[in-house]
Amino acid sequence: MVASSYTPEFPGAPSTSANESEDARNARLSALLAEPLRDGLSAEELMDPKVSGGLTYNDLLILPGYVDFPANVCSLESRITKRFTLKTPFLSSPMDTVTETQMAIGMALNGGLGVIHHNCPVEEQADMVRKVKKFENGFITDPLCLSPTNTVQDVYNIKESLGFCGIPITEDGKLQSKLVGIVTSRDIDFLQTDEERRRHLKDVMTTNLVTAPQGVSLIEANTILKASKKGKLPIINEQGHLTALLARSDLIKAREYPWASKMAVSKQLLVAAAISTHEEDKIRLKALVDAGLDIVILDSSQGNSLFQIEMIKFIKQTYPAIDVVAGNVVTQEQARQLIAAGADALRVGMGSGSICITQEVMACGRPQGTAVFRVAQYARQFGVPVIADGGIANVGHIVKALALGASAVMMGSLLAGTTESPGEYFYHEGQRLKKYRGMGSIDAMEKGDAAGKRYFSEGDKIKVAQGVTGAVVDKGTVKKFLGYLTAGVQHSLQDIGTRSLNEMREGVVNGTVRFEKRTASAQLEGGVHGLHHFEKRLFS
Ligand code: GDP
Ligand code: 5GP
Repeated sequence: MVASSYTPEFPGAPSTSANESEDARNARLSALLAEPLRDGLSAEELMDPKVSGGLTYNDLLILPGYVDFPANVCSLESRITKRFTLKTPFLSSPMDTVTETQMAIGMALNGGLGVIHHNCPVEEQADMVRKVKKFENGFITDPLCLSPTNTVQDVYNIKESLGFCGIPITEDGKLQSKLVGIVTSRDIDFLQTDEERRRHLKDVMTTNLVTAPQGVSLIEANTILKASKKGKLPIINEQGHLTALLARSDLIKAREYPWASKMAVSKQLLVAAAISTHEEDKIRLKALVDAGLDIVILDSSQGNSLFQIEMIKFIKQTYPAIDVVAGNVVTQEQARQLIAAGADALRVGMGSGSICITQEVMACGRPQGTAVFRVAQYARQFGVPVIADGGIANVGHIVKALALGASAVMMGSLLAGTTESPGEYFYHEGQRLKKYRGMGSIDAMEKGDAAGKRYFSEGDKIKVAQGVTGAVVDKGTVKKFLGYLTAGVQHSLQDIGTRSLNEMREGVVNGTVRFEKRTASAQLEGGVHGLHHFEKRLFS
């Protein structure tokens, strides 16, 4: 049928010839509809310095894609250094109001990574690393043992300092000696008086033991342990000498935290720690490595220095098993120098932190969106992952950092108010808060150990602060909060139409994931507006 006259329904629609058949018109429109469109801007166009200047996360948005999958299938797996991959791209900052033992355990259990701060004596920092490594195990290959002549009090002492009291008893109190019994909390729970505490372990230990032979696989040993209904499974060799131990509580931790960041064989949690690039920190590093450190972070606000380059080379040569995160950098030239020196990842950010006054005081830095994009664009060629550090205030910022090329984000303020961060809660005007301070604040520096090294030169007579001291609101436990961040990022990936972080980043590189710049009024529109008052609850 031939249409005698056809008027476009919408002004501006492509003109239609009056004698175009309906079939021809349908075919033409179908062909038009079959063509995928690239609306908005590619990341490269967005970041064109002639058009944009430097962009922060708030200056941009990602355009939605096509959804044909549920959010919870989205994978957040990310490589955070050349050798380590995590199930979630979340790192906690090496700050003394953010990451100590409990935070590092909480981050690793939930699929992220904690970076233990260095504003403390060496032994304290090494002790924190040791506690994280000891928290969970497969086979405990160096279990603490006692001898039959040790006392109940000795077990209480171990419980107090190390947190466990399941102790194998061997003839001479050492590993590789004949196993003669085991003491657990049930053997000593009711032995409280001084006299009872002086009793020898040979009189209270359990001798009816279920053991497994050396050489048993971890899976087999787990099966024996479950069936035994005991708390511990000692592993012994043919002579009956103790060679390792398995704890039931580790099976439970593994079940409860299936995403935990662990070493493949030892099943111990991954842990990172920060050091400075000063010569004496080589001693600090040795203590950390002896305590089981996996990843070291060179904590410097301007990473492109001779000191850092020499430190990277020293670490790569002396401790080849340790991955080095270098930084901080914000330019490709800074990145080039550190990659050439052997960096296994780069930490990106200068002046974007919530507690930070570097850009204000030093006139140095770069808007974080641009910094992440430019550095990641360069580092990608060498397979060096980039960690976007600072300025992450919400889930949207995390997704933007990852879309701009970061493999992970490092958070200070977002995590500082959780149960696992150091410090006590206090109340101010009815709100439950925790202290949070910049490591370049005078407050942190006055604590005296390492804080100053990140920001000041030795011999500086006047310390120019680069951070402030403040407080953040209670965020509950890391388990719940990281659960919220994870679900939030998954929902965002779904909106973008990509099933994984890798797919999203590929989409950004090949131009299928599109962006839009946000004007000041677009930013206003994107926030809550026009209400008399409102309550903002982020998750339940
Ligand atoms: P216990 O019953 O008091 O020994 O404590 P649990 O079994 O509940 O927890 C012990 C935790 O400490 C497990 O996660 C172990 O992997 C860990 N751990 C690390 N080193 C040792 C060790 O030398 N002995 C024991 N018993 N546990 C250790
Ligand atoms: P946030 O997540 O709070 O926005 O930023 C945390 C990051 O800020 C840290 O990982 C670290 O890189 C940076 N930072 C910590 N303390 C200071 C400081 O005192 N001054 C500056 N300039 N940056 C800091």
